[in-house]
Formats: sequence, C-alpha cells, structure tokens
Amino acid sequence: MDRVDTKALLAGVDLLALLARDTPLQRVARTDGGEYAGPCPACGGRDRFRVWPAPREGPGRYWCRQCGARGDAISYLRWREGLGFQGGLRAAGRAAAGGGTPRAGCGAAAASRRRPAAGGVAGARCRW
Ligand SMILES: [Zn+2]
Repeated sequence: MDRVDTKALLAGVDLLALLARDTPLQRVARTDGGEYAGPCPACGGRDRFRVWPAPREGPGRYWCRQCGARGDAISYLRWREGLGFQGGLRAAGRAAAGGGTPRAGCGAAAASRRRPAAGGVAGARCRW
C-alpha cells in the first residue's frame, strides 16, 4: 500500500462530527481550540469523555478520564469498527470525504478481530 499521509488525512476529518454521532458532546471550555465533554462511547458516565477537535498542535484528539480511551480520528474509527490500521485509514478517508461510516455492530467488530488490537480500549469493545 502507498504511504499514507495520516496528518493530511486527519486534518480532513471532522472529529467532533464523527464522535457526536456516538455520544452527545457539549462545549465546556475554550482552551486549546475548544474542549467538549460528554458520556464516553465505551464506558458511559456523564462528562468523562473529553474532545479537543482542533488543538493548536496536532490532530483533533479525545480522552476518557475513566477508561483511558484516547487517540485521534483513526484510532477512534479502528476501535469503533474493530479495524486494523489499514482499515482505520480507509475509514478515516471515507470520513474525510464526507462519507458515512455505518455503525458496525458488535458482530462486525468481532468478525474483523483478526489481529489483537493494541491499546487500552480493546477490552471495552462491544460494551455499547
Ligand atoms: Zn471511557
């Protein structure tokens, strides 16, 4: 596969819109380009899930202070849809192009669980 410019890819993805499909987010601060909070898509709660869609440095990112889920649009899509790295890049590409990413059920996530996912959110998969 050709080398993918993940930075450019991430710059084209509206992280807030992507996350807002799964959890209601409210703007809570103006720091670092704006901070949003809401229930965590993985572990719930009320406002433990934090999102910085347009920080001054780097791509938009999220962080759950409860379960520790964190990352950018690619890692979110990988986790949400049970994708490997390449699949995550393709999903981010679709999101950047404005295409929908139909919500994959847990069955789809399980079916694509061919490789063990790295990172702390793997265990939270399919709880929601
Ligand atoms: Zn969480």
